[in-house]
Amino acid sequence: MRKIERNGTRPGRPQPGLLQAIVVGSGAGGAAAARELQGSYQVTVLEAGREFRRLGLSVRWMERLRNWRLLVDERMIRLVFPAMHVRRSAEGLVHVNGAGTGGTTTLSAGNALRMDESLREIGIDLDREFEELAREVPVSTAHRRSWSAATRRLFELCEQAGLAPRPTPKMVDFERCRHCGRCVLGCPYGAKWDSRRFLEDAKAKGARLVTGCSVREVVIRGGRAVGVRGRVGARAVFFPADLVVLSAGGLGTPAILERSGIRCEPRLFVDPVLCVAAPWPGSRQHHELPMPFVVQRPGYIISPYFDYLSFLFNRSWRRPASRMLALMIKLADSERGRVPARGVGLEKRLTAEDRRRLAEAETLCRQILVRFGADPADIFLGTLNAGHPGGMLPLTSAEAASLHPARLPANLYVADSTLLPRSLGNPPILTILALAKKVARAAMAALEAARRPAA
Ligand SMILES: Cc1cc2nc3c(=O)[nH]c(=O)nc-3n(C[C@H](O)[C@H](O)[C@H](O)COP(=O)(O)OP(=O)(O)OC[C@H]3O[C@@H](n4cnc5c(N)ncnc54)[C@H](O)[C@@H]3O)c2cc1C
Ligand code: SF4
Repeated sequence: MRKIERNGTRPGRPQPGLLQAIVVGSGAGGAAAARELQGSYQVTVLEAGREFRRLGLSVRWMERLRNWRLLVDERMIRLVFPAMHVRRSAEGLVHVNGAGTGGTTTLSAGNALRMDESLREIGIDLDREFEELAREVPVSTAHRRSWSAATRRLFELCEQAGLAPRPTPKMVDFERCRHCGRCVLGCPYGAKWDSRRFLEDAKAKGARLVTGCSVREVVIRGGRAVGVRGRVGARAVFFPADLVVLSAGGLGTPAILERSGIRCEPRLFVDPVLCVAAPWPGSRQHHELPMPFVVQRPGYIISPYFDYLSFLFNRSWRRPASRMLALMIKLADSERGRVPARGVGLEKRLTAEDRRRLAEAETLCRQILVRFGADPADIFLGTLNAGHPGGMLPLTSAEAASLHPARLPANLYVADSTLLPRSLGNPPILTILALAKKVARAAMAALEAARRPAA
């Protein structure tokens, strides 16, 4: 009898007669591509992380660990939360990504925005894919009735200032949501959508998933990708493939490409985040859905957000969680930076223009908090961090139809944020899902056409 997995899905039977596709990574891009490909190909998803486990630690315990001075560096988060991976680049910028099934989508705040302007500008039409996603991913703004008094007041202040705030569309099932505020630590109630749902769909159709498998390189012979090489624990492994799709994320995919001898562009963007906070007794922002509304400004967004990373590791945040109120700035940064082949020692600095825009946004946040009633002298900042990397193999208008960067072998594709032409400064999951679906279809069509005998 076939095994029924803990989440209730029954893995489908592998389909041995099919050509083999390897998908690297199970985040937004990988899960969407695997779901699309399985059935036409026998898909194996290789994921470096393990099965996702949320952070179970209570806020009281977080406060204790912090007060005992046990949390000194953001990279230590892995000790208690292995699914969260943190690295640092120049200027101390902290980069956060998910390392486990579901990739970074398991750590998301649940925001679901269509953000494909830069793709449309180069001729990529994702209407069909977004229409499908509207049926497949539950998106709603039905959280407004649960906003706290503080959030409602912040929203009013933004409206009065002419900032046109909008309730944020969320990939959350609000029948199940308990408004616990722990979205970025993993949803305890299964209310938040993440890409493990697409992964389970792919598995139900017969896809295989190998966790703990870190892919080192794509093996290319005679101009074709013949498989990928990596490690499962201490064991070296090789997976042969007829089609390889890299979806290891904006930091993982360029590192694999570089190790495979394929140069990427030094155009890394990361969407830096800075929180501007004030003491506010009884705010209880940590018990509220993060980013309930969003203000869109040229080059950045502003949204209320309790920043767990700063709360745990930043000295200025050593206060009770229930007595702080924060606004997040998320910047659309310049496309300048790179991931070296070894994947460590990220090169990413903010440019003078990035700094100027960040300062403008910080001033605006301070003004909003002061209008709210905060004392200007008490306002403090969070840790500069980032979690939306991408852009190192940007699609161009010449590639709009094939979705295949010319420098890749014909049977090697990329399906993740690495393809985005520029920083969105906005939540990218929905756009990556749509793009990955289209890339998978384009790959199947191109390889099918190549196999057909010439007329
Ligand atoms: C705290 C936080 C909150 C966020 N909130 C939102 C939000 O609300 N809405 C939104 O749209 N976006 C949000 N994002 C961003 C979003 O989650 C990511 O941009 C998105 O998941 C990227 O998709 P991806 O497919 O490019 O990569 P990922 O989802 O990061 O997936 C990459 C996967 O590849 C695996 N991998 C990497 N290297 C290898 C290798 N060598 N071998 C095998 N596997 C490998 C990784 O373990 C990972 O599972 C948030 C990000 C963070 C950090
Ligand atoms: S607020 Fe809590 S229950 Fe609601 S989606 Fe986020 S983590 Fe899940």
